[in-house]
Amino acid sequence: MKQGKGLPVFSGVAIGPAVVYRKSQRVLPVSSGDPQLEQSKFDAARETARQQLSQLYEKAKAELGEDKAAIVEVQMLMLDDLDYLDGVADAIAGGAAAAIAALDTGESFAQIFAAMDDEYMNARSADIRDMSHRVYDILCGNTGFQLPEGSFLLVAEDLAPSETIQLPRERILAFVTRQGSSSSHTAILARTLNIPSLVQANLPLEDAENCEVLAVDGFTGTWYTDPDPETLAMLKEKQAAAADARFALEAYRGKKSVTKSGKSVLLCANIGSPEDARAALAGDAEGVGLMRSEFLYLGRSSLPTEEELFDAYRTVAEIMGQRPVVIRTLDIGADKQVSYMGLEKEENPALGLRGLRICLTREEIFLPQLRAIYRASAYGNLSVMFPMVASLWELKAAKALCAKVRAELTAEGVETKEVPIGVMIETPAAAVLAPELAKEAAFFSVGTNDLTQYTLAVDRQNAKLGDFYDPYHPALMALLAHIAKSANEAGIWAGICGELGADPKMTETFLKMGFTELSMAPGRILETRKLVCESEV
Ligand code: PEP
Ligand code: MG
Repeated sequence: MKQGKGLPVFSGVAIGPAVVYRKSQRVLPVSSGDPQLEQSKFDAARETARQQLSQLYEKAKAELGEDKAAIVEVQMLMLDDLDYLDGVADAIAGGAAAAIAALDTGESFAQIFAAMDDEYMNARSADIRDMSHRVYDILCGNTGFQLPEGSFLLVAEDLAPSETIQLPRERILAFVTRQGSSSSHTAILARTLNIPSLVQANLPLEDAENCEVLAVDGFTGTWYTDPDPETLAMLKEKQAAAADARFALEAYRGKKSVTKSGKSVLLCANIGSPEDARAALAGDAEGVGLMRSEFLYLGRSSLPTEEELFDAYRTVAEIMGQRPVVIRTLDIGADKQVSYMGLEKEENPALGLRGLRICLTREEIFLPQLRAIYRASAYGNLSVMFPMVASLWELKAAKALCAKVRAELTAEGVETKEVPIGVMIETPAAAVLAPELAKEAAFFSVGTNDLTQYTLAVDRQNAKLGDFYDPYHPALMALLAHIAKSANEAGIWAGICGELGADPKMTETFLKMGFTELSMAPGRILETRKLVCESEV
């Protein structure tokens, strides 16, 4: 048994096999921005695929006979198919990364074959997929990352949102990363999934790779490889106690979130997908206070269509029924990167083209999202809010686009509802300008993760700055009080949707300040309601 420490970002105990995700094994399929370079990468990968397949063919022929080996031969022929090669070249010329071009072209051909009225051709669809996945894997260096059948603890140096989004969430028992911070998006995902997780863990990747069982204690921030029987028994006991504590909180399910003196607060969930909306209901959320809509854009090779977005928002609206749902518009940039938007690499991405700044400069991206939100508004109780606002003109410009979209839809005969428009307060400028913004906004929701980062000039992603990232800093508290006061004076509501919203040490303070909504990981709602109901405030 070996053991070590990490910074716990969610409590609980997980025990199971470890899977190590090494970035060196996986290169994200991001375009270099140079189509010629991407084409030459594809050509080289095709050559490697050809060599691999010919070795496979010889092996299959020797072991299984020529008949069976013919399957491999078909794939080798597909590698030379001129239509496939043209499709890839066109996608690369259009800005796609070589890996994505190989994969997507393969997928479109596979779908064409699958739709043919011929059994033999239908069967070739799987071969095309196999072949294009092989080229994709070569381009991404995917040689050794394999997931086991059942549940596992995921260990990595670090994880980006575009990576976590592609993981089978329901099978992950815990995250353990050597880097990362408590407000990174991996930590946020861990809280959403209710799984114990450690960041900044001193677990060597080799130890995780070589152990049979990994255990994580999210209460103490300890990891154990191959725990001895005594430790295992202690961990199992803790696991059972945690389950009992969760059970005791069930007494607060369905209750109103009101303090002893009658102050009520709306306890809502932070979600990233329609699937999470079900988790929000399971957690007894009174609404969705933050839908991180950018998660619909991550982990894919092209922009989601208006139709796809509409489907997602409508599903969330329908799942939540009359409960309010706040959709935050696209917040790409900083740690949430997508390859297909053609955004330039920035020296300072957290201070760069991010959130609403992208939307206001790329209307072809923003307008379909707004159309989808307005179309979905007819199916529930939707609000919209903009991230990374720093100036009044940004809010006015975004509101004007909302009005334009709604008018267009009405002219098209599409039913829409009034959608309250709010602002995320996550830049110090927005916090200071709260009284002015409140005249133009229907509500405020404070993004304490970014507000902390920008107020203290401390990168929320940087593990070395942990002690300096202080969300309780007096400067933050002053800004929060000012935001709530400005909202109350203007007669609009203000909530907190950053990670601090679920901090039990802050619940009473927020109520006293005048916040009337707290939005958090669905698994935190019942324990926060207990605090609210027990409070004298
Ligand atoms: C925040 O900044 O507090 C927030 C809620 O948004 P995100 O964590 O997605 O940046
Ligand atoms: Mg933010």
